[in-house]
Amino acid sequence: PRRRLPVNVRCVSSSPAAAYTTKVSRNANIAKLQAGYLFPEVARRRAAHLLKYPDAKIISLGVGDTSEPIPEVITNAMAERAHALSTIDGYSGYGAEQGEKKLRAAIAATYYSDLGIEETDIFVSDGAKCDISRLQILFGSNVKIAVQDPSYPVYVDSSVIMDQTDLYQQDVQKYGNIEYMTCSPENGFFPDLSSVPRTDIIFFCSPNNPTGTASSRDQLTQLVKFAKDNGSIIFYDCAYAMYISDDSPKSIFEIPGAKEVAMETASFSKYAGFTGVRLGWTVVPKELLFSDGHSVAKDFNRIVCTSFNGASTISQAGGLGCLSPEGLEAMQDVVGFYKENTKIILDTFTSLGFNVYGAKNAPYVWVHFPGRNSWDVFAEILEKAHVVTTPGIGFGPSGEGFVRVSAFGHRETIIEAARRLKQLYK
Ligand code: PLP
Repeated sequence: PRRRLPVNVRCVSSSPAAAYTTKVSRNANIAKLQAGYLFPEVARRRAAHLLKYPDAKIISLGVGDTSEPIPEVITNAMAERAHALSTIDGYSGYGAEQGEKKLRAAIAATYYSDLGIEETDIFVSDGAKCDISRLQILFGSNVKIAVQDPSYPVYVDSSVIMDQTDLYQQDVQKYGNIEYMTCSPENGFFPDLSSVPRTDIIFFCSPNNPTGTASSRDQLTQLVKFAKDNGSIIFYDCAYAMYISDDSPKSIFEIPGAKEVAMETASFSKYAGFTGVRLGWTVVPKELLFSDGHSVAKDFNRIVCTSFNGASTISQAGGLGCLSPEGLEAMQDVVGFYKENTKIILDTFTSLGFNVYGAKNAPYVWVHFPGRNSWDVFAEILEKAHVVTTPGIGFGPSGEGFVRVSAFGHRETIIEAARRLKQLYK
């Protein structure tokens, strides 16, 4: 008879070749992706650091996750809906894939009044990131995209997965068949559109993650004109719009003519601490048409109905809570709190003599370490200050020489991080 192993002893095959394999070949597009998504890689290095220094009080200013509690006016709205689900009258099952009419109307009225965007143009979702993937299914594999360089990595990675790109080119650190639009201090973090070739889709994020800069009305007017001249579609990501404190537009639809060339995604994640609750939306105006005259919104609706069954009813109740007068005020307070954190980080690096960008209109500080490798700077700050940041290179080749410092965190944590950074770079 086979000897029984003690329960805590695992059978490990002596040779990996002995592992059973299916006859299914791996998706070649996923194989094209580099090392792994940026934030899991940052998390992996954080975990390795903790193994090395088990007692270290690590402060995470890396992944842009919110830290402060959700205002009660919003959680009360969710709790009420949750309890109602236990009653005959209050129970509801599948909802409309596009979201509850009342929430779509509230989003249109709160963020798009006077911009000609209607309730039916709004698709409520489980977050902006999820909508970016659904969007890629909408466009399919025969489109070419442009991205700001640097930018939120999901645009590029989802494009690779959708087979819109060629292989990764190690020498230039770019994928083939993507247009990387350089955004640097030299051009005020707005691309020189005169040197950008036509693409089908232009991903544009303002306020930008990671540079923290918001594009001005004049710049966005140029962008819309550029898209119109080329017959391109702008996918505008304004997940941080509420952080804008100057007169930069909060929506691309503030620019005349944008409805014919743009769609826009936004999210409650960074306004109400909904990174875990999950709620966002995408606006697809009726005026936006494909080359054959077919409505983009109709096709997006088809994708949403096929791949999504609507945002959670409880999250949607939270969204209505967010958009009540008290909820809007509470979200302003949350945003204001993180903006004060941002100022502390900005002042810290400025006082140390660094060139620092962003911060004014976004919860991100983009710190320049000229001539240095951004993973080396990341490692130095982690090793010596036990503070996690994000290396700029993870957002695109033009991010080399920068690190992104996120301002999400409890106040005492931010103050402690500032103290350690001052110690490190004094
Ligand atoms: N878009 C940008 C620019 C982001 O930085 C993030 C999150 O960090 C998202 C979208 C994702 O938002 P959500 O939580 O709504 O999926």
